[in-house]
Amino acid sequence: MDTNTIFSKALQLHPLTEDEAVHIYEHAPTDKLMAVASVIRQKHVPGKTVGWQIDRNVNYTNVCLSGCLFCNFHCKPHETDKHYTPAIEEYCEKIEALFAIGGNQLLLQGGLHPSFKLEFYESLFRELKKRYPTLKLHALGPPEVAHIARLEKMTYRETLERLIDAGLDSLPGAGAEILIDRVRKQVSPAKPDAQSWIEVMREAHRLRLATSATMLFGLIETLRERVQHLLKIRKLQSEKPKNATGFLNFICWPVQLKGTKLAKNYSLKPVTPIEYVRTVAISRIVLNNIKNIQASWLTVGRDTAQICLYAGANDLGSIMMEENVLAAVGIKERMDVKSMVHTIREAGFEPYLRNQHYQLVEQSVSARVCV
Ligand code: SF4
Repeated sequence: MDTNTIFSKALQLHPLTEDEAVHIYEHAPTDKLMAVASVIRQKHVPGKTVGWQIDRNVNYTNVCLSGCLFCNFHCKPHETDKHYTPAIEEYCEKIEALFAIGGNQLLLQGGLHPSFKLEFYESLFRELKKRYPTLKLHALGPPEVAHIARLEKMTYRETLERLIDAGLDSLPGAGAEILIDRVRKQVSPAKPDAQSWIEVMREAHRLRLATSATMLFGLIETLRERVQHLLKIRKLQSEKPKNATGFLNFICWPVQLKGTKLAKNYSLKPVTPIEYVRTVAISRIVLNNIKNIQASWLTVGRDTAQICLYAGANDLGSIMMEENVLAAVGIKERMDVKSMVHTIREAGFEPYLRNQHYQLVEQSVSARVCV
């Protein structure tokens, strides 16, 4: 297989086959991968702008049935002394702090709670929207939706319709990990399977809900399985209705092993910065129908995230006020508004404060802290 022929095909934005993508992932030099990915970024998003966002994570519960081996955040239903569910006043305090620095979106995530049924999420969303009509809710994820649907004996579509009606604005691609059941069965034994993730996303696209796609890698998957994951995302995007938003972006990040059952049960090597950069570049090259590729500064650090801007990424995501899931595996990296702007400028790009839909946000509040 000839690397240059594969690159020419990719540069015309033609979809690569699995074997072609695996070939360049395994064999192409990193500088070549980065250069090709950068040219493709220019075709999707011309210029030097790099998107970023102000939003805030809030975890609605840490109780979870799934027991993912890489997760130190959750607790089991029987560990009642560890249960956590914020009161509405806590939400209000966090939302007001978010508004004060110019953000208006909550990333609401949590575990698969055995007894939180649809009504819990509907009343939470409604109450938050009643108190803060301009608040945006980027909430749950396909495994949560599948779990709620199972509890309620409803279809994914009905569940999503009810959540949208209650105030869900967009659906994060959380819980995709690697969309290969051989991997999922070992690392996330009780999580809904790959097909459920895909089916929930398919319904979300049909309902015109904006979504994102993700990949958590460095688990026990092979390079080929990572590529297969990307191809499933690409296929799903290609199937969305013409006027649907579909996946707004794609974000991959390496698993954090510290203190996890995953590290105890398997002898895994952490993903290196170079492997991360290569994976971002491969994502940009393979996902020819997704416009925005995000680098995860939180998990790989600012320096590596800056390099990813030369490997096809055009977005650094959110400053992530209050992140608890990765903090539970020792991630201490933090970013405020000022340092996000500085990080993008220092790498030679122009920061672009955006909302979930990649529309420019007026920098009335943030501009004061940015300059
Ligand atoms: S990653 Fe999510 S689904 Fe998995 S155990 Fe943690 S909270 Fe549960």
